[in-house]
Amino acid sequence: MHKGIAVSPGVAVARAFCVDSVLARREPHYLNAAALSEEIARFDAACQAAGQEMDATIARVVQQLGEEEAAIFRAHRVLLRDPALVGKVKASILHRKVDATTALHDLIDEYTLIFEKIQDEYLKERMADIRDVVTRIITHLSVEKTAANIGSDEPVILVAPEILPSQALLLEKFRIAGIITEAGGTTGHAAILARSLGIPSISGLVGILKQVVTGDLLALDGRAGLVHHKPDSEVEAAYRKMQREYVNLRDRLIENRDLEAVSKDGTKLELLANVNNVHDAEAACRAGATGVGLYRTEYLFLTHPNVPTEEEQLAAYRAVIEASPNRRVTIRTLDIGGDKLVPYFGHAREANPFMGWRSIRITSSYPEFFQTQLRAILRAGAFGQISLLFPMISTLEEVRDLRRMVHRTREHLRRERIAFADPIPLGIMLEVPAAALCVNSLLREVDYVSIGSNDLTQYVMAADRDNPKVSHLCEPFSPPIFRLLNHILRACERHRKPVTLCGEMAGRPRCFLPLFGMGLRSFSMSPAFVPTIKELTRCATREVAEQVARHVRHLRTFKDVRQYLTAMTKKVCPNAAILDTKK
Ligand code: PEP
Ligand code: MG
Repeated sequence: MHKGIAVSPGVAVARAFCVDSVLARREPHYLNAAALSEEIARFDAACQAAGQEMDATIARVVQQLGEEEAAIFRAHRVLLRDPALVGKVKASILHRKVDATTALHDLIDEYTLIFEKIQDEYLKERMADIRDVVTRIITHLSVEKTAANIGSDEPVILVAPEILPSQALLLEKFRIAGIITEAGGTTGHAAILARSLGIPSISGLVGILKQVVTGDLLALDGRAGLVHHKPDSEVEAAYRKMQREYVNLRDRLIENRDLEAVSKDGTKLELLANVNNVHDAEAACRAGATGVGLYRTEYLFLTHPNVPTEEEQLAAYRAVIEASPNRRVTIRTLDIGGDKLVPYFGHAREANPFMGWRSIRITSSYPEFFQTQLRAILRAGAFGQISLLFPMISTLEEVRDLRRMVHRTREHLRRERIAFADPIPLGIMLEVPAAALCVNSLLREVDYVSIGSNDLTQYVMAADRDNPKVSHLCEPFSPPIFRLLNHILRACERHRKPVTLCGEMAGRPRCFLPLFGMGLRSFSMSPAFVPTIKELTRCATREVAEQVARHVRHLRTFKDVRQYLTAMTKKVCPNAAILDTKK
Protein backbone atom coordinates (compact mmCIF):
# COMPACT_ATOMS: atom_id res chain seq x y z
CA MET A 1 0.00 0.00 0.00
CA HIS A 2 1.22 3.52 -0.81
CA LYS A 3 0.18 6.71 0.96
CA GLY A 4 0.15 10.02 -0.87
CA ILE A 5 -1.73 13.29 -0.60
CA ALA A 6 -5.49 13.06 -0.96
CA VAL A 7 -6.38 15.67 -3.58
CA SER A 8 -9.72 14.66 -5.06
CA PRO A 9 -12.23 12.41 -3.28
CA GLY A 10 -13.65 9.20 -4.73
CA VAL A 11 -12.71 5.57 -5.13
CA ALA A 12 -11.46 3.75 -8.23
CA VAL A 13 -10.36 0.23 -9.10
CA ALA A 14 -8.83 -0.04 -12.56
CA ARG A 15 -5.72 -0.87 -14.55
CA ALA A 16 -2.84 1.59 -14.63
CA PHE A 17 -1.94 3.63 -17.66
CA CYS A 18 1.53 5.10 -17.15
CA VAL A 19 2.48 8.32 -18.87
CA ASP A 20 6.20 9.01 -18.75
CA SER A 21 7.46 12.54 -18.74
CA VAL A 22 8.30 13.44 -22.33
CA LEU A 23 12.05 13.67 -21.90
CA ALA A 24 12.40 10.92 -19.26
CA ARG A 25 14.85 8.33 -20.51
CA ARG A 26 13.20 4.97 -21.11
CA GLU A 27 14.46 1.62 -22.35
CA PRO A 28 15.32 1.79 -26.09
CA HIS A 29 12.60 0.44 -28.37
CA TYR A 30 14.09 -1.74 -31.11
CA LEU A 31 12.23 -2.31 -34.35
CA ASN A 32 12.54 -4.97 -37.01
CA ALA A 33 13.81 -3.93 -40.42
CA ALA A 34 10.37 -3.99 -42.03
CA ALA A 35 9.07 -1.32 -39.64
CA LEU A 36 11.85 1.20 -40.22
CA SER A 37 10.49 3.07 -43.21
CA GLU A 38 7.14 3.44 -41.44
CA GLU A 39 8.98 4.85 -38.41
CA ILE A 40 10.78 7.40 -40.61
CA ALA A 41 7.39 8.44 -41.99
CA ARG A 42 6.01 8.76 -38.45
CA PHE A 43 9.00 10.97 -37.53
CA ASP A 44 8.47 13.13 -40.65
CA ALA A 45 4.79 13.53 -39.81
CA ALA A 46 5.61 14.56 -36.22
CA CYS A 47 8.16 17.13 -37.51
CA GLN A 48 5.62 18.47 -39.94
CA ALA A 49 2.93 18.78 -37.28
CA ALA A 50 5.38 20.50 -34.93
CA GLY A 51 6.40 22.86 -37.76
CA GLN A 52 2.83 23.82 -38.58
CA GLU A 53 2.19 24.42 -34.89
CA MET A 54 5.21 26.72 -34.71
CA ASP A 55 4.32 28.66 -37.88
CA ALA A 56 0.89 29.43 -36.47
CA THR A 57 2.43 30.41 -33.13
CA ILE A 58 4.90 32.76 -34.82
CA ALA A 59 2.13 34.48 -36.79
CA ARG A 60 -0.06 35.01 -33.71
CA VAL A 61 2.79 36.10 -31.47
CA VAL A 62 3.95 38.69 -34.02
CA GLN A 63 0.41 40.00 -34.32
CA GLN A 64 -0.47 40.16 -30.62
CA LEU A 65 2.85 40.55 -28.80
CA GLY A 66 5.43 41.79 -31.30
CA GLU A 67 8.39 40.68 -33.43
CA GLU A 68 10.82 40.46 -30.54
CA GLU A 69 8.72 37.94 -28.61
CA ALA A 70 8.52 35.73 -31.72
CA ALA A 71 12.31 35.50 -32.14
CA ILE A 72 12.64 32.41 -29.95
CA PHE A 73 10.05 30.53 -32.00
CA ARG A 74 11.77 31.49 -35.23
CA ALA A 75 14.99 30.03 -33.85
CA HIS A 76 13.15 26.81 -32.95
CA ARG A 77 11.60 26.70 -36.39
CA VAL A 78 15.05 26.90 -38.00
CA LEU A 79 16.27 24.06 -35.78
CA LEU A 80 13.37 21.89 -36.84
CA ARG A 81 14.48 22.25 -40.47
CA ASP A 82 18.14 21.77 -39.65
CA PRO A 83 19.33 18.90 -41.91
CA ALA A 84 22.02 17.96 -39.40
CA LEU A 85 19.45 17.41 -36.64
CA VAL A 86 16.82 15.71 -38.78
CA GLY A 87 19.44 13.64 -40.64
CA LYS A 88 21.01 12.43 -37.40
CA VAL A 89 17.68 11.17 -36.10
CA LYS A 90 16.83 9.38 -39.33
CA ALA A 91 20.28 7.78 -39.52
CA SER A 92 19.89 6.60 -35.96
CA ILE A 93 16.48 5.02 -36.69
CA LEU A 94 17.87 3.21 -39.74
CA HIS A 95 21.26 2.10 -38.42
CA ARG A 96 20.43 1.29 -34.83
CA LYS A 97 16.93 0.01 -35.71
CA VAL A 98 15.26 2.02 -32.94
CA ASP A 99 12.04 4.02 -32.80
CA ALA A 100 12.03 7.80 -33.33
CA THR A 101 11.67 8.58 -29.61
CA THR A 102 14.75 6.51 -28.75
CA ALA A 103 16.68 8.24 -31.54
CA LEU A 104 15.65 11.66 -30.21
CA HIS A 105 16.72 10.71 -26.67
CA ASP A 106 20.11 9.62 -28.07
CA LEU A 107 20.40 12.95 -29.84
CA ILE A 108 19.76 14.82 -26.58
CA ASP A 109 22.42 12.73 -24.82
CA GLU A 110 24.95 13.41 -27.56
CA TYR A 111 24.29 17.17 -27.60
CA THR A 112 24.34 17.36 -23.81
CA LEU A 113 27.89 15.94 -23.82
CA ILE A 114 29.02 18.42 -26.47
CA PHE A 115 27.39 21.43 -24.80
CA GLU A 116 28.83 20.57 -21.39
CA LYS A 117 32.28 21.33 -22.78
CA ILE A 118 31.27 24.72 -24.14
CA GLN A 119 32.27 27.74 -22.02
CA ASP A 120 30.25 30.42 -23.79
CA GLU A 121 27.04 31.04 -21.77
CA TYR A 122 25.04 32.15 -24.80
CA LEU A 123 25.88 29.01 -26.75
CA LYS A 124 25.24 26.88 -23.68
CA GLU A 125 21.71 28.21 -23.50
CA ARG A 126 21.03 26.95 -27.05
CA MET A 127 20.85 23.48 -25.52
CA ALA A 128 17.54 24.54 -23.96
CA ASP A 129 16.27 25.36 -27.46
CA ILE A 130 17.22 21.91 -28.72
CA ARG A 131 15.42 20.35 -25.77
CA ASP A 132 12.31 22.42 -26.50
CA VAL A 133 12.25 21.35 -30.13
CA VAL A 134 12.85 17.69 -29.28
CA THR A 135 10.13 17.83 -26.60
CA ARG A 136 7.71 19.16 -29.17
CA ILE A 137 8.47 16.37 -31.64
CA ILE A 138 8.30 13.64 -28.97
CA THR A 139 5.00 15.07 -27.73
CA HIS A 140 3.56 14.71 -31.23
CA LEU A 141 4.89 11.17 -31.46
CA SER A 142 3.56 10.20 -28.05
CA VAL A 143 0.17 11.95 -28.21
CA GLU A 144 -0.66 9.83 -31.21
CA LYS A 145 0.58 6.70 -29.40
CA THR A 146 -1.17 7.56 -26.12
CA ALA A 147 -4.44 8.12 -27.93
CA ALA A 148 -4.10 4.76 -29.70
CA ASN A 149 -3.30 2.89 -26.47
CA ILE A 150 -5.74 4.56 -24.17
CA GLY A 151 -8.57 4.55 -26.64
CA SER A 152 -10.06 1.29 -25.36
CA ASP A 153 -13.39 1.32 -23.57
CA GLU A 154 -11.96 0.21 -20.25
CA PRO A 155 -11.45 3.12 -17.83
CA VAL A 156 -7.88 3.50 -16.59
CA ILE A 157 -6.02 5.07 -13.69
CA LEU A 158 -3.53 7.53 -15.11
CA VAL A 159 -0.11 7.37 -13.43
CA ALA A 160 2.11 10.31 -14.37
CA PRO A 161 5.00 12.42 -13.08
CA GLU A 162 2.62 15.39 -13.20
CA ILE A 163 -0.38 16.54 -15.18
CA LEU A 164 0.31 19.55 -17.36
CA PRO A 165 -2.49 22.04 -18.02
CA SER A 166 -2.10 21.25 -21.72
CA GLN A 167 -3.03 17.63 -20.96
CA ALA A 168 -6.47 18.69 -19.71
CA LEU A 169 -7.99 17.59 -22.99
CA LEU A 170 -6.56 14.12 -22.52
CA LEU A 171 -8.46 13.86 -19.24
CA GLU A 172 -11.72 14.86 -20.82
CA LYS A 173 -11.35 12.75 -23.92
CA PHE A 174 -10.62 9.38 -22.39
CA ARG A 175 -12.21 7.29 -19.68
CA ILE A 176 -10.09 8.17 -16.69
CA ALA A 177 -11.18 6.48 -13.46
CA GLY A 178 -8.44 7.97 -11.30
CA ILE A 179 -5.21 9.95 -11.36
CA ILE A 180 -1.97 9.38 -9.48
CA THR A 181 0.90 11.84 -9.80
CA GLU A 182 4.38 11.97 -8.37
CA ALA A 183 4.36 15.77 -8.07
CA GLY A 184 1.68 18.26 -7.07
CA GLY A 185 -0.12 19.44 -3.94
CA THR A 186 -3.76 19.78 -2.94
CA THR A 187 -4.49 23.08 -4.69
CA GLY A 188 -2.16 22.99 -7.70
CA HIS A 189 -3.69 23.14 -11.17
CA ALA A 190 -3.65 19.34 -11.58
CA ALA A 191 -5.60 18.82 -8.35
CA ILE A 192 -8.10 21.47 -9.39
CA LEU A 193 -8.53 19.80 -12.78
CA ALA A 194 -9.15 16.39 -11.20
CA ARG A 195 -11.61 17.85 -8.72
CA SER A 196 -13.46 19.77 -11.40
CA LEU A 197 -13.89 16.58 -13.40
CA GLY A 198 -14.87 14.62 -10.27
CA ILE A 199 -11.97 12.18 -10.79
CA PRO A 200 -10.49 10.61 -7.62
CA SER A 201 -6.87 11.62 -7.36
CA ILE A 202 -3.73 11.29 -5.24
CA SER A 203 -0.51 13.28 -5.59
CA GLY A 204 2.94 13.24 -4.01
CA LEU A 205 3.62 9.53 -4.70
CA VAL A 206 7.28 10.00 -5.54
CA GLY A 207 8.80 6.97 -7.30
CA ILE A 208 5.48 5.30 -8.12
CA LEU A 209 6.39 5.15 -11.82
CA LYS A 210 9.35 2.91 -10.97
CA GLN A 211 7.01 0.31 -9.49
CA VAL A 212 3.79 0.44 -11.47
CA VAL A 213 3.64 -0.48 -15.16
CA THR A 214 0.79 -0.07 -17.61
CA GLY A 215 -1.75 -2.83 -17.11
CA ASP A 216 -1.19 -3.37 -13.36
CA LEU A 217 -4.34 -3.37 -11.28
CA LEU A 218 -4.66 -0.45 -8.84
CA ALA A 219 -7.19 0.31 -6.09
CA LEU A 220 -7.28 3.98 -5.14
CA ASP A 221 -9.05 5.94 -2.41
CA GLY A 222 -8.82 9.64 -3.20
CA ARG A 223 -10.29 10.59 0.19
CA ALA A 224 -7.60 8.88 2.25
CA GLY A 225 -4.78 9.28 -0.29
CA LEU A 226 -4.24 5.50 -0.41
CA VAL A 227 -3.38 3.28 -3.35
CA HIS A 228 -2.95 -0.51 -3.43
CA HIS A 229 -0.73 -1.84 -6.18
CA LYS A 230 -1.90 -5.29 -7.40
CA PRO A 231 -4.45 -5.64 -4.56
CA ASP A 232 -5.40 -9.16 -3.44
CA SER A 233 -8.97 -10.25 -4.04
CA GLU A 234 -10.17 -9.15 -0.57
CA VAL A 235 -8.78 -5.63 -0.89
CA GLU A 236 -10.10 -5.38 -4.43
CA ALA A 237 -13.60 -6.44 -3.30
CA ALA A 238 -13.52 -3.97 -0.38
CA TYR A 239 -12.53 -1.10 -2.70
CA ARG A 240 -15.19 -2.01 -5.25
CA LYS A 241 -17.78 -1.93 -2.47
CA MET A 242 -16.52 1.48 -1.27
CA GLN A 243 -16.66 2.72 -4.85
CA ARG A 244 -20.32 1.64 -5.22
CA GLU A 245 -21.27 3.29 -1.92
CA TYR A 246 -19.46 6.49 -2.84
CA VAL A 247 -21.06 6.72 -6.28
CA ASN A 248 -24.54 5.90 -4.90
CA LEU A 249 -24.28 8.62 -2.29
CA ARG A 250 -23.00 11.16 -4.80
CA ASP A 251 -25.77 10.30 -7.24
CA ARG A 252 -28.37 10.56 -4.49
CA LEU A 253 -27.12 13.98 -3.46
CA ILE A 254 -27.27 15.35 -6.99
CA GLU A 255 -31.04 14.92 -6.79
CA ASN A 256 -31.02 18.10 -4.68
CA ARG A 257 -30.04 20.14 -7.76
CA ASP A 258 -33.34 22.05 -7.92
CA LEU A 259 -33.59 22.72 -4.20
CA GLU A 260 -32.51 26.05 -2.74
CA ALA A 261 -29.28 26.31 -0.79
CA VAL A 262 -30.93 27.46 2.40
CA SER A 263 -30.01 26.55 5.96
CA LYS A 264 -32.46 24.91 8.35
CA ASP A 265 -33.07 28.27 10.01
CA GLY A 266 -33.66 30.11 6.74
CA THR A 267 -30.35 31.72 5.69
CA LYS A 268 -29.96 31.61 1.94
CA LEU A 269 -26.56 30.92 0.44
CA GLU A 270 -25.29 31.20 -3.08
CA LEU A 271 -23.51 28.13 -4.45
CA LEU A 272 -21.63 28.95 -7.63
CA ALA A 273 -19.30 26.94 -9.84
CA ASN A 274 -15.68 27.30 -10.92
CA VAL A 275 -15.28 26.47 -14.60
CA ASN A 276 -12.53 26.20 -17.19
CA ASN A 277 -14.61 25.63 -20.31
CA VAL A 278 -18.04 24.99 -21.71
CA HIS A 279 -18.14 21.36 -20.48
CA ASP A 280 -17.65 22.54 -16.90
CA ALA A 281 -20.40 25.15 -17.40
CA GLU A 282 -22.76 22.35 -18.47
CA ALA A 283 -21.68 20.31 -15.44
CA ALA A 284 -22.43 23.36 -13.27
CA CYS A 285 -26.04 23.36 -14.55
CA ARG A 286 -26.41 19.63 -13.93
CA ALA A 287 -25.04 20.01 -10.40
CA GLY A 288 -27.49 22.78 -9.47
CA ALA A 289 -25.12 25.76 -9.21
CA THR A 290 -26.90 29.10 -9.70
CA GLY A 291 -24.11 30.79 -11.62
CA VAL A 292 -20.38 30.70 -12.34
CA GLY A 293 -18.32 32.39 -9.63
CA LEU A 294 -14.99 31.87 -11.36
CA TYR A 295 -14.28 31.28 -15.03
CA ARG A 296 -10.54 30.60 -15.34
CA THR A 297 -9.86 31.86 -18.87
CA GLU A 298 -6.27 30.61 -18.89
CA TYR A 299 -7.30 27.13 -20.01
CA LEU A 300 -8.28 28.58 -23.36
CA PHE A 301 -4.73 29.90 -23.72
CA LEU A 302 -3.06 26.80 -22.28
CA THR A 303 -4.84 24.41 -24.62
CA HIS A 304 -4.72 26.61 -27.73
CA PRO A 305 -2.04 25.65 -30.26
CA ASN A 306 -0.87 29.27 -30.38
CA VAL A 307 -2.44 32.60 -29.31
CA PRO A 308 -6.25 32.91 -29.45
CA THR A 309 -7.52 35.92 -31.43
CA GLU A 310 -10.20 38.33 -30.21
CA GLU A 311 -12.85 36.50 -32.26
CA GLU A 312 -11.75 33.09 -30.95
CA GLN A 313 -11.83 34.37 -27.39
CA LEU A 314 -15.23 35.95 -27.93
CA ALA A 315 -16.61 32.64 -29.25
CA ALA A 316 -15.20 30.70 -26.27
CA TYR A 317 -16.45 33.18 -23.63
CA ARG A 318 -19.84 33.44 -25.27
CA ALA A 319 -20.19 29.64 -25.35
CA VAL A 320 -19.40 29.43 -21.63
CA ILE A 321 -21.86 32.22 -20.80
CA GLU A 322 -24.63 30.62 -22.82
CA ALA A 323 -24.03 27.21 -21.19
CA SER A 324 -23.83 28.57 -17.63
CA PRO A 325 -26.61 28.54 -15.04
CA ASN A 326 -28.69 31.72 -15.48
CA ARG A 327 -26.00 32.99 -17.88
CA ARG A 328 -24.31 34.49 -14.85
CA VAL A 329 -20.55 34.35 -15.10
CA THR A 330 -17.64 36.00 -13.32
CA ILE A 331 -14.87 36.04 -15.91
CA ARG A 332 -11.32 36.24 -14.63
CA THR A 333 -8.65 37.71 -16.88
CA LEU A 334 -5.67 35.56 -17.81
CA ASP A 335 -3.94 34.17 -14.71
CA ILE A 336 -0.83 32.68 -16.25
CA GLY A 337 2.61 32.04 -14.76
CA GLY A 338 3.57 30.20 -11.58
CA ASP A 339 2.63 26.62 -12.48
CA LYS A 340 0.75 27.55 -15.67
CA LEU A 341 3.02 28.53 -18.53
CA VAL A 342 2.46 29.40 -22.17
CA PRO A 343 5.60 29.61 -24.30
CA TYR A 344 4.99 32.97 -25.98
CA PHE A 345 5.66 35.11 -22.93
CA GLY A 346 9.21 33.81 -23.05
CA HIS A 347 9.41 32.93 -19.37
CA ALA A 348 12.99 33.18 -18.30
CA ARG A 349 13.69 30.78 -15.45
CA GLU A 350 12.80 32.50 -12.19
CA ALA A 351 13.98 31.41 -8.77
CA ASN A 352 10.49 31.92 -7.30
CA PRO A 353 7.94 31.72 -10.11
CA PHE A 354 4.92 32.04 -7.80
CA MET A 355 6.34 35.29 -6.46
CA GLY A 356 7.58 36.51 -9.77
CA TRP A 357 6.22 37.63 -13.06
CA ARG A 358 2.78 36.06 -13.15
CA SER A 359 -0.85 36.83 -13.72
CA ILE A 360 -1.82 40.52 -13.78
CA ARG A 361 1.89 41.40 -13.70
CA ILE A 362 2.34 39.72 -17.09
CA THR A 363 -0.85 40.95 -18.74
CA SER A 364 -0.18 44.53 -17.61
CA SER A 365 3.19 44.39 -19.40
CA TYR A 366 1.44 43.70 -22.72
CA PRO A 367 -1.32 46.33 -22.98
CA GLU A 368 -2.31 45.42 -26.54
CA PHE A 369 -2.53 41.74 -25.79
CA PHE A 370 -4.49 42.46 -22.61
CA GLN A 371 -6.81 44.78 -24.44
CA THR A 372 -7.66 42.01 -26.87
CA GLN A 373 -8.81 39.90 -23.95
CA LEU A 374 -10.74 42.77 -22.35
CA ARG A 375 -12.50 43.50 -25.63
CA ALA A 376 -13.47 39.84 -26.04
CA ILE A 377 -14.78 39.63 -22.46
CA LEU A 378 -16.73 42.89 -22.67
CA ARG A 379 -18.23 41.86 -26.01
CA ALA A 380 -19.16 38.39 -24.70
CA GLY A 381 -20.87 40.15 -21.79
CA ALA A 382 -23.62 41.29 -24.16
CA PHE A 383 -24.86 37.67 -24.12
CA GLY A 384 -25.38 37.29 -20.38
CA GLN A 385 -24.82 38.77 -16.99
CA ILE A 386 -21.10 39.01 -16.38
CA SER A 387 -18.60 40.46 -13.93
CA LEU A 388 -14.94 41.10 -14.60
CA LEU A 389 -12.40 39.74 -12.13
CA PHE A 390 -8.69 40.60 -11.89
CA PRO A 391 -6.31 38.04 -10.35
CA MET A 392 -3.21 38.54 -8.15
CA ILE A 393 -3.87 42.12 -7.15
CA SER A 394 -1.28 43.44 -4.69
CA THR A 395 -1.72 47.22 -4.68
CA LEU A 396 -4.25 50.00 -5.11
CA GLU A 397 -2.18 51.39 -7.99
CA GLU A 398 -2.80 48.20 -9.95
CA VAL A 399 -6.55 48.53 -9.40
CA ARG A 400 -6.54 52.12 -10.62
CA ASP A 401 -4.51 51.27 -13.72
CA LEU A 402 -6.87 48.43 -14.54
CA ARG A 403 -9.96 50.61 -14.13
CA ARG A 404 -8.45 53.09 -16.56
CA MET A 405 -7.70 50.34 -19.01
CA VAL A 406 -11.24 48.96 -18.88
CA HIS A 407 -12.58 52.47 -19.32
CA ARG A 408 -10.45 52.98 -22.43
CA THR A 409 -11.50 49.63 -23.90
CA ARG A 410 -15.16 50.49 -23.39
CA GLU A 411 -14.69 53.84 -25.08
CA HIS A 412 -13.10 52.15 -28.09
CA LEU A 413 -15.94 49.66 -28.38
CA ARG A 414 -18.50 52.44 -28.03
CA ARG A 415 -16.84 54.42 -30.82
CA GLU A 416 -16.75 51.34 -33.01
CA ARG A 417 -20.47 50.77 -32.23
CA ILE A 418 -19.82 47.23 -31.05
CA ALA A 419 -22.20 45.79 -28.43
CA PHE A 420 -20.69 45.07 -25.01
CA ALA A 421 -21.63 44.57 -21.34
CA ASP A 422 -22.52 47.89 -19.77
CA PRO A 423 -22.34 48.41 -16.84
CA ILE A 424 -19.96 45.69 -15.76
CA PRO A 425 -19.06 45.06 -12.11
CA LEU A 426 -15.28 45.11 -11.57
CA GLY A 427 -13.84 42.89 -8.88
CA ILE A 428 -10.47 41.70 -7.64
CA MET A 429 -9.15 38.44 -6.27
CA LEU A 430 -7.92 38.67 -2.71
CA GLU A 431 -5.09 36.17 -2.81
CA VAL A 432 -1.99 38.19 -2.01
CA PRO A 433 -1.63 38.86 1.74
CA ALA A 434 -0.81 42.55 1.08
CA ALA A 435 -4.21 43.01 -0.58
CA ALA A 436 -6.00 41.00 2.10
CA LEU A 437 -4.46 43.13 4.85
CA CYS A 438 -5.30 46.41 3.07
CA VAL A 439 -8.72 45.23 1.95
CA ASN A 440 -10.41 48.34 3.38
CA SER A 441 -8.72 50.71 0.97
CA LEU A 442 -9.21 48.38 -2.01
CA LEU A 443 -12.90 47.91 -1.28
CA ARG A 444 -13.51 51.63 -1.83
CA GLU A 445 -12.52 51.26 -5.49
CA VAL A 446 -14.00 47.93 -6.58
CA ASP A 447 -17.52 46.57 -6.85
CA TYR A 448 -16.86 43.21 -5.20
CA VAL A 449 -14.07 40.85 -4.13
CA SER A 450 -13.40 37.15 -4.51
CA ILE A 451 -11.16 35.33 -2.05
CA GLY A 452 -8.60 33.06 -3.71
CA SER A 453 -7.86 30.86 -0.74
CA ASN A 454 -5.48 28.61 -2.71
CA ASP A 455 -2.94 31.34 -3.35
CA LEU A 456 -3.76 33.20 -0.16
CA THR A 457 -2.88 30.08 1.84
CA GLN A 458 0.38 29.46 0.00
CA TYR A 459 1.49 33.07 0.45
CA VAL A 460 0.43 33.36 4.09
CA MET A 461 2.11 30.07 4.95
CA ALA A 462 5.09 30.63 2.60
CA ALA A 463 4.46 27.08 1.34
CA ASP A 464 4.29 26.28 -2.40
CA ARG A 465 0.82 24.95 -3.20
CA ASP A 466 2.26 22.47 -5.71
CA ASN A 467 5.05 21.01 -3.59
CA PRO A 468 4.04 17.79 -1.82
CA LYS A 469 6.86 18.23 0.72
CA VAL A 470 5.18 21.29 2.24
CA SER A 471 1.56 20.32 1.67
CA HIS A 472 1.06 19.87 5.44
CA LEU A 473 1.53 23.66 5.73
CA CYS A 474 -0.46 24.60 2.68
CA GLU A 475 -3.84 23.62 4.01
CA PRO A 476 -6.73 25.77 5.09
CA PHE A 477 -7.38 24.24 8.53
CA SER A 478 -5.17 26.75 10.20
CA PRO A 479 -5.56 29.56 12.72
CA PRO A 480 -3.79 32.22 10.60
CA ILE A 481 -6.03 31.55 7.58
CA PHE A 482 -9.24 31.74 9.57
CA ARG A 483 -8.02 34.92 11.23
CA LEU A 484 -7.30 36.59 7.88
CA LEU A 485 -10.59 35.41 6.37
CA ASN A 486 -12.44 36.87 9.32
CA HIS A 487 -10.65 40.20 8.77
CA ILE A 488 -11.71 40.22 5.09
CA LEU A 489 -15.31 39.27 5.79
CA ARG A 490 -15.69 41.96 8.49
CA ALA A 491 -14.31 44.58 6.08
CA CYS A 492 -16.71 43.54 3.30
CA GLU A 493 -19.59 43.74 5.75
CA ARG A 494 -18.61 47.28 6.76
CA HIS A 495 -18.25 48.41 3.15
CA ARG A 496 -21.37 46.48 2.09
CA LYS A 497 -19.49 44.93 -0.77
CA PRO A 498 -20.30 41.42 -2.04
CA VAL A 499 -17.68 38.76 -1.36
CA THR A 500 -17.31 35.24 -2.74
CA LEU A 501 -14.75 32.61 -1.82
CA CYS A 502 -13.59 30.72 -4.93
CA GLY A 503 -10.57 28.74 -3.74
CA GLU A 504 -10.75 24.98 -3.12
CA MET A 505 -11.82 25.66 0.48
CA ALA A 506 -15.30 26.58 -0.77
CA GLY A 507 -15.94 22.98 -1.83
CA ARG A 508 -14.40 21.26 1.18
CA PRO A 509 -17.11 20.08 3.54
CA ARG A 510 -15.03 20.59 6.66
CA CYS A 511 -14.40 24.27 5.89
CA PHE A 512 -18.08 25.00 5.38
CA LEU A 513 -19.32 25.58 8.94
CA PRO A 514 -16.67 28.13 10.01
CA LEU A 515 -16.99 30.04 6.70
CA PHE A 516 -20.79 30.17 6.97
CA GLY A 517 -20.46 31.10 10.64
CA MET A 518 -18.05 33.95 9.85
CA GLY A 519 -20.63 35.44 7.51
CA LEU A 520 -19.68 34.13 4.07
CA ARG A 521 -22.80 33.73 1.92
CA SER A 522 -21.36 33.05 -1.53
CA PHE A 523 -19.25 29.96 -2.26
CA SER A 524 -17.75 29.08 -5.65
CA MET A 525 -16.39 25.57 -6.22
CA SER A 526 -15.81 22.76 -8.72
CA PRO A 527 -19.27 21.69 -9.98
CA ALA A 528 -18.77 18.19 -8.52
CA PHE A 529 -18.90 19.62 -4.97
CA VAL A 530 -22.06 21.70 -5.30
CA PRO A 531 -24.48 18.89 -4.28
CA THR A 532 -22.40 18.06 -1.20
CA ILE A 533 -22.16 21.65 -0.02
CA LYS A 534 -25.88 22.10 -0.67
CA GLU A 535 -26.64 19.04 1.47
CA LEU A 536 -24.49 20.56 4.22
CA THR A 537 -26.22 23.93 3.92
CA ARG A 538 -29.62 22.31 4.26
CA CYS A 539 -28.52 20.30 7.32
CA ALA A 540 -26.84 23.24 9.08
CA THR A 541 -28.19 26.18 11.07
CA ARG A 542 -26.66 29.61 11.14
CA GLU A 543 -26.62 29.42 14.95
CA VAL A 544 -24.45 26.28 15.01
CA ALA A 545 -22.22 27.65 12.26
CA GLU A 546 -21.63 30.83 14.26
CA GLN A 547 -20.77 28.77 17.33
CA VAL A 548 -18.29 26.75 15.27
CA ALA A 549 -16.69 29.94 13.88
CA ARG A 550 -16.34 31.37 17.40
CA HIS A 551 -14.84 28.15 18.73
CA VAL A 552 -12.35 27.83 15.84
CA ARG A 553 -11.02 31.31 16.64
CA HIS A 554 -9.76 30.00 19.99
CA LEU A 555 -8.02 26.93 18.64
CA ARG A 556 -4.30 27.28 18.25
CA THR A 557 -2.96 24.35 16.26
CA PHE A 558 -3.75 22.91 12.80
CA LYS A 559 -4.47 19.57 14.42
CA ASP A 560 -7.01 20.98 16.86
CA VAL A 561 -8.78 22.87 14.06
CA ARG A 562 -8.88 19.81 11.81
CA GLN A 563 -10.11 17.46 14.54
CA TYR A 564 -12.79 19.84 15.72
CA LEU A 565 -14.09 20.57 12.21
CA THR A 566 -14.07 16.87 11.29
CA ALA A 567 -16.20 16.06 14.33
CA MET A 568 -18.61 18.97 13.85
CA THR A 569 -19.11 18.32 10.12
CA LYS A 570 -19.83 14.66 10.82
CA LYS A 571 -22.34 15.63 13.52
CA VAL A 572 -24.17 18.18 11.38
CA CYS A 573 -24.14 16.22 8.11
CA PRO A 574 -22.68 12.69 8.06
CA ASN A 575 -23.19 12.33 4.29
CA ALA A 576 -21.06 15.36 3.49
CA ALA A 577 -18.29 14.11 5.76
CA ILE A 578 -18.13 10.81 3.81
CA LEU A 579 -17.58 12.72 0.57
CA ASP A 580 -14.64 14.80 1.88
CA THR A 581 -10.94 14.04 1.61
CA LYS A 582 -9.56 12.79 4.93
CA LYS A 583 -6.42 14.10 6.58
C1 PEP B 1 -7.08 30.73 -5.74
O1 PEP B 1 -5.89 31.08 -5.76
O2 PEP B 1 -7.68 30.39 -4.71
C2 PEP B 1 -7.85 30.68 -6.99
C3 PEP B 1 -9.15 30.44 -6.97
O3 PEP B 1 -7.19 30.84 -8.15
P1 PEP B 1 -6.25 29.72 -8.85
O4 PEP B 1 -6.46 28.43 -8.09
O5 PEP B 1 -6.69 29.64 -10.25
O6 PEP B 1 -4.90 30.30 -8.66
MG1 MG C 1 -5.08 32.11 -7.50
